[in-house]
Amino acid sequence: MMSNQAIIDKGQQYVMNTYGRNPMALVKGQGSWVWDAEGRKYLDLVGGIAVCSLGHAHPELTSVLREQSEKLWHCSNLYWNLPQVELAEKLCQATGMDKAFFANSGAETIEGAIKLARKYFRRKNQNRFQIIAFKNSFHGRTTGALAVTGQSKYQQGFEPLLPGVLFAEFNDLASVESLITDQTAAVLVEPIQGEGGVNPASHSFMQGLRELCQKKGILLILDEVQCGMARTGKMMAYQHYGIQPDIVTLAKALGGGFPIGALLATDEAATGFAPGDHASTFGGNPLGSAVGSKVVDIISQPSFLNQVNATGSYLQEKLQEIVEKDQRATAVKGLGLLLGIEFSVEVKELVNTCVKNGLLVISAGPRVLRFVPPLNITKEEIDQALAILEKSLEEWQR
Ligand SMILES: *Cc1c(COP(=O)(O)O)cnc(C)c1O
Repeated sequence: MMSNQAIIDKGQQYVMNTYGRNPMALVKGQGSWVWDAEGRKYLDLVGGIAVCSLGHAHPELTSVLREQSEKLWHCSNLYWNLPQVELAEKLCQATGMDKAFFANSGAETIEGAIKLARKYFRRKNQNRFQIIAFKNSFHGRTTGALAVTGQSKYQQGFEPLLPGVLFAEFNDLASVESLITDQTAAVLVEPIQGEGGVNPASHSFMQGLRELCQKKGILLILDEVQCGMARTGKMMAYQHYGIQPDIVTLAKALGGGFPIGALLATDEAATGFAPGDHASTFGGNPLGSAVGSKVVDIISQPSFLNQVNATGSYLQEKLQEIVEKDQRATAVKGLGLLLGIEFSVEVKELVNTCVKNGLLVISAGPRVLRFVPPLNITKEEIDQALAILEKSLEEWQR
């Protein structure tokens, strides 16, 4: 067995230096727990950043992956494959959307959404190409997704970026309205800004955006890569707001850890794409689709969603108690099991202290401690996590 340090040393020699990583290598996971190369056990409230929604090594996911791997791994979208078609059907039925396109990551679904919106209007001979996105948003690291991400720290050094992108203020409908022209194609928004600090959109903002886009003939694109797939206690975060988008993007939790992303659209918006307009070699391949299908089966059960709501409320309550006790903590933010504690100081050292004490947590921006645990985490595990968090808060020096 290699030690953590031996793996780190080899990684530093051969892997590009793009991540600020914790000083350990993970080798095994089971449910809400992971183990490092030296057998140390951690309670995982990161879940691969809102990806491992059913925890690690979920028996139904490992068995569907094994079964599909013995039939067909990959066959190209030159041909139909049943797992992809079934996943599309299940996603549409669970979300009220009509058509799916499959990709492999969140950023790729954003690329697809931008292309779909632009082609939709070009097909109608309308010169609408501008995308209104939001300050403090996050949509991924590919060049197109970067261009619609409203945080300069991610963009710096990569200019010139894709043109035709404007940034409005999140939760400020008037700021969107003032940017709309006869060249606006779409408004792109996260119902809950994840990386930007776990900031939920207000009801009036989301409903106002829906009405505004309808009135102006603009497409509403929702990025649910992080907040979708039952994370907030409903299948999709937009269902909390009583609206339907024209286009919605999914990835992270869709494959429970298997890389897959999806772009869902209404029949009308989907007319933007015709054969040859968009494609992906791996998108919707049988392995990823079979796993995604099983994920949707499990998380769309009413009893599962009830459980997410119950666990989310419990964690939220407990985090609120922390905010009331700890001077440095200012607020609890989020919905369901996408939660954060906002602090008045940077949380980097707190994250490190938690990890040292056996709890994986992550920040969202400099001052928010984010919790995106497996959706099937138990109340007992939440209690264990809270005990480690409280101990870490005591040790944490400003
Ligand atoms: C993570 C994330 C993305 C990017 O997903 P990748 O799979 O890393 O490309 C896009 N949008 C949101 C809201 C995300 O949280």
